[in-house]
Amino acid sequence: MRGVALLGSTGSIGTTALRVIDRQRHLFRVAALTAFANTSLLAEQVARYEPTFVGLVNNGGPSAGLWRTGQDCLVEAATRSDVDIVLNAVVGAAGLDATLAALEAGKRVALANKETLVMAGDLASAAARRGGGEIVPVDSEHSAILQCMTGRPSTDVRRVILTASGGPFRDWTHERLARVTVEDALHHPTWRMGRKITVDSATLANKALEVIEAHYLFDLPYDRIEVVVHPQSVVHSLVEFVDGSVLAQMSAPTMELPVLYALTHPERVPDDGVTPFDPVACSPLTFEPVRFDQFPALRLGMEAGRRGGAAPAVFNAANEQAVALFLEGRITFIDIATSIDSALDTLSDAESGTREALLAVDADARRHVRSLYSC
Ligand code: NAD
Ligand code: MG
Repeated sequence: MRGVALLGSTGSIGTTALRVIDRQRHLFRVAALTAFANTSLLAEQVARYEPTFVGLVNNGGPSAGLWRTGQDCLVEAATRSDVDIVLNAVVGAAGLDATLAALEAGKRVALANKETLVMAGDLASAAARRGGGEIVPVDSEHSAILQCMTGRPSTDVRRVILTASGGPFRDWTHERLARVTVEDALHHPTWRMGRKITVDSATLANKALEVIEAHYLFDLPYDRIEVVVHPQSVVHSLVEFVDGSVLAQMSAPTMELPVLYALTHPERVPDDGVTPFDPVACSPLTFEPVRFDQFPALRLGMEAGRRGGAAPAVFNAANEQAVALFLEGRITFIDIATSIDSALDTLSDAESGTREALLAVDADARRHVRSLYSC
């Protein structure tokens, strides 16, 4: 029995993970649950899974009872002795300290919270080396790459190709993109996810985050990480080996499979909850080039990754802030990429070697974006 701390248990990945664990209760025990503010759903989950630790970040009110509160509860949950695996399903930079602390404490981090690696990939790698922890990706593309690479040395890999659904605006013109509404952006064609990642999938900022995530997870230089649009979201990514052979991992679009694999890697366990794969029903499978000119957030993020230093953290924070303003109806869809561009221009050379420096540049990038729109 392995103890799982589920951070962000009330979200899209959090609730998916609990469905997966429900079917594997002979292997995994829910040791800790944390959420931001959804007290009623957290209370239901606590009654059902009886974890030994409960954290509610944003509510010290009467309903919290014996639960721990405040941002520190994430680190507390992630470092407990009865926790073997930390499934970090928090959205955004708020998940950083929990990832670092879990790696430092020697835990497996099943990482959905990709923003953590983008913001502080070098610190996370150093924490893993010091503490003996490991990161296993939950993101479907990176799970696919890991599944294709497992058992082979990384020197066998020539390049990886991340697939992107292309989002709801894959074939929209620039004129139409200028009039996108929040409702349009929240309507993803193949995945049901939290609001922030759904907008990131519409701007393709999500794919930029994933390119940087792949760089750190698999220790690959950026010129060996490519992106292709694959609207059906059935091929989750491809790995080309040095002999020219290409392996792909496929399934219907469900996060249950990569969540389970992140818990069991490198083993596989039977799961009767997965819809059987039907190649005919999935047909046709198509691939298209990325339209970088219409989705500048992807190009900006990939450039930030190559530049390194503070740039990935600036990209991430500016994007988080701009998406929040877009969801509040204060800026347009196109303003998201413009904000990121401006923040990168101003802040990319900032200090970035420590957690404190990264938190400072994260705050500066958010402030910069708000100031552009007097928010
Ligand atoms: P979500 O918005 O549905 O859920 C976010 C969870 O994080 C909630 O439980 C919320 O309570 C918690 N949370 C939010 N702000 C917090 C804060 N400041 N401190 C602590 N907890 C906080 O988001 P999601 O779609 O589940 O995505 C979670 C993460 O997984 C993101 O990093 C996303 O990019 C990644 N991811 C999601 C999917 C997906 O299919 N949803 C796929 C791949 C990767
Ligand atoms: Mg993904």
